[in-house]
Amino acid sequence: SMASPALLMRVVASAYSVAEKAATIVRNVMAAGDLAIVEKTGANDLQTKADRLVQMSICASLARKFPKVTIIGEEELSTDEVTEELIEDGHCEEILKRTCPAQYTGIKEEELVIWVDPLDGTKEYTEGLLDHVTVLIGIAYGGKAIAGVINQPYYNYEAGADAVLGRTIWGVLGIGAFGFQLTEAPAGKHIIITTRSHSSTLVNDCISALNPDSVIRVGGAGNKVIQLIEGKASAYVFASPGCKKWDTCAPEAILHAVGGKITDIHGNSFQYNKEVKHMNSAGVLAALRNYDYYASRIPNTVKQSLMP
Ligand code: AMP
Ligand code: MG
Ligand code: MG
Repeated sequence: SMASPALLMRVVASAYSVAEKAATIVRNVMAAGDLAIVEKTGANDLQTKADRLVQMSICASLARKFPKVTIIGEEELSTDEVTEELIEDGHCEEILKRTCPAQYTGIKEEELVIWVDPLDGTKEYTEGLLDHVTVLIGIAYGGKAIAGVINQPYYNYEAGADAVLGRTIWGVLGIGAFGFQLTEAPAGKHIIITTRSHSSTLVNDCISALNPDSVIRVGGAGNKVIQLIEGKASAYVFASPGCKKWDTCAPEAILHAVGGKITDIHGNSFQYNKEVKHMNSAGVLAALRNYDYYASRIPNTVKQSLMP
């Protein structure tokens, strides 16, 4: 038909292009060599010029096209004029051609909340662990993460000069997720993926209680969920506060779109309405398969230490 695409599909299609522009900014800032690092709450909570420019780019670009949508970004920025060169106006045609799931066709701009992590894995970005970095744009409706875009600006960077650098993963509940190869983790093995730069005794005690075959410590919530859907790890376990709604919204939508599950450490689902507290105080537990197995093995002592 000639009917114009549903709002949700237009938002996802635009977010796709906006995330690609963001990735270009992330690479350009690093290439220019001056990260202009600012400590937020401390040395393990950093902001770089890339975090700032990318947030301005994403939020201003989406706000221009969808003025009534609520957009919540990680960084607190001065309300400077955004220069025109930061604005991305494009969209992904392929996404626009997809049929919007029936339950989302009537969504209005005022009902959407977009959670933006302009650069997830900043600590690792400053240390040159570039493939840990992602750009996260999560889209929520009725308090639920229903769609998301994850761009990995340095995907393939260790594969040599011929490899295509960067990729964009997108997903919508009821459609699926695209831009990667869904892969099962090794059967019968418990490979736990967790934080690299925000560990604590509780984080490590919780992992030990799961009797892991191996533990992967890497930066970024986006990066860890990508590793779940690509079969590199069987569960993402983070028994600590610190992770925020913009860290989990886009990864959650993509993980749920392919049949996985993410919750806090108690098994409570995350809420993404605009009034919600930003901090995921009760940690993160996620898996593509066998979520219930991992949930059933989180010690009560750990749960008691992490109140929602
Ligand atoms: P990580 O797995 O350590 O990369 O954390 C995932 C996301 O949560 C990143 O955006 C981190 O910046 C954030 N995060 C986790 N723990 C903390 C913390 N203690 N302080 C600040 N940010 C944190
Ligand atoms: Mg983050
Ligand atoms: Mg960030």
